[in-house]
Amino acid sequence: MSQRCPLYRQNCTHKFDQAANDPRIRFFGNVQVGPQTSPAIPHALPISLSSLKSHYTHLLFSTGCATPTLHPALPPSDRVIPALSLVHWYTQHPSRPAPPPLHETEHVSIIGQGNVALDVARMLLTPPEALAKYDVPAPVLDVLHRSAVRHVSIIGRRGPLQAAFTNKELRELTVLDGTSMLPLAQELLGAPTPDVRLTRQQSRLLQLLQKQQQHDSSRTPNAGPSRTKTWSLDFFRSPTALATAPDRHRHRLALTLAHTALDASARAVPTGVTSVQHTDLVVAALGHHADPAAAYVDPALGHLRTGRGGRVLDGAGRTLRGVYASGWAATGARGVLASTMLDAYAVADAILADHHFSDGGVSEAPVAEYSEDALVANDAVDLESVPGEVEEGVRARRVVQYDQWKKIDAEEVRRGAEMDKERERMGWEEAHEFLTSTGAWQSQ
Ligand code: NAP
Repeated sequence: MSQRCPLYRQNCTHKFDQAANDPRIRFFGNVQVGPQTSPAIPHALPISLSSLKSHYTHLLFSTGCATPTLHPALPPSDRVIPALSLVHWYTQHPSRPAPPPLHETEHVSIIGQGNVALDVARMLLTPPEALAKYDVPAPVLDVLHRSAVRHVSIIGRRGPLQAAFTNKELRELTVLDGTSMLPLAQELLGAPTPDVRLTRQQSRLLQLLQKQQQHDSSRTPNAGPSRTKTWSLDFFRSPTALATAPDRHRHRLALTLAHTALDASARAVPTGVTSVQHTDLVVAALGHHADPAAAYVDPALGHLRTGRGGRVLDGAGRTLRGVYASGWAATGARGVLASTMLDAYAVADAILADHHFSDGGVSEAPVAEYSEDALVANDAVDLESVPGEVEEGVRARRVVQYDQWKKIDAEEVRRGAEMDKERERMGWEEAHEFLTSTGAWQSQ
């Protein structure tokens, strides 16, 4: 979330700017390759993979994993929301999910204990005044100002030592103004048995939780006027059912949670005990996968099928010449920005090696077998040409090029400065109107 790491984002933006300054690079925005996957972007120009074929010698998929993993007991509804929809709402993603009903939500249950769960919790717990100076869009701040959220429960099916979040992200939640963490059972604050050897990360996590506990035990939750919201890490619980709460209950939903324990392989297994948590909104933060209908995605893996160096493989495991994937598209939804960046560098090296050394490069074993189904590697490519649909999209003012994006970017920052914040984002219609009114469509 940008509000947390402006420096990372600046570095990232800077890298894009550096690359875009190279005259060999052309950027086409508002284009969606392949089928309209979820989340659909209604104004994006659809273009088929095959029409890229005659215009490029190499294709690199850096398409991430944009489909949220759902839970069978929690079908999405206006009160059961995938975390990704919530993130898309507060970042004003062009798929435009509806705002969550926060004005009539006191208690939120987030299922999953990864960094996305913590991001969502932090967004719901941070005072909107503190968010206002970043790039959180004004309509989002309006909803947050009217929020009735008082407690966020972050539910994991395993224990603290197996939690998927990182210590840095947890620490950020512990220092949030106006919030306190509910106490954890004492047995969760140490190693389960003396013979368990903890990793450095696990030891630090336990220290952090113990410190937080001491800090918060000096006051009752919700005591002073400045401490109005609470949150909890609820370990060893897994949802099994969701129903409407009884009439006149303070909360709207009854979430049944199976109590769990770890088996010998550290998997969560039900103990047979269940309890009911009353809540108003359930957020499923269970991770993400690639759209199974998208090209080269192996539904069993949840991402594109790749071999060494991000080389994309066909169904029979043969390398598709000239086709690559990096980041979450290649590895699945895991790892932070830095690991994704390192993966991208490694794939770039593989592309260069394949280009300069057709046997797979000097430092690499040769590719075992290439697929007959050559998608690209068309030697007769005219490097100046672009697919007809894109050309038409540029003419029709539907496809945005880099100079135009830079104008939108500068305008967002200018509008933000007027509101005393980092930037105020524009939606597609607004950005389109801005480019029209400033004559920027003609500039390319
Ligand atoms: P994640 O890290 O994979 O966490 C998913 C969580 O959902 C885990 O706690 C997992 O528990 C739980 N879960 C999965 N299936 C479940 C089920 N059927 N029932 C109950 N619980 C279930 O996913 P994420 O939070 O979406 O994050 C994805 C990646 O993005 C991660 O690498 C994360 O670090 C990264 N990320 C980083 C940042 C950052 O650096 N600030 C911010 C956001 C995301 P189990 O462990 O038991 O499977």
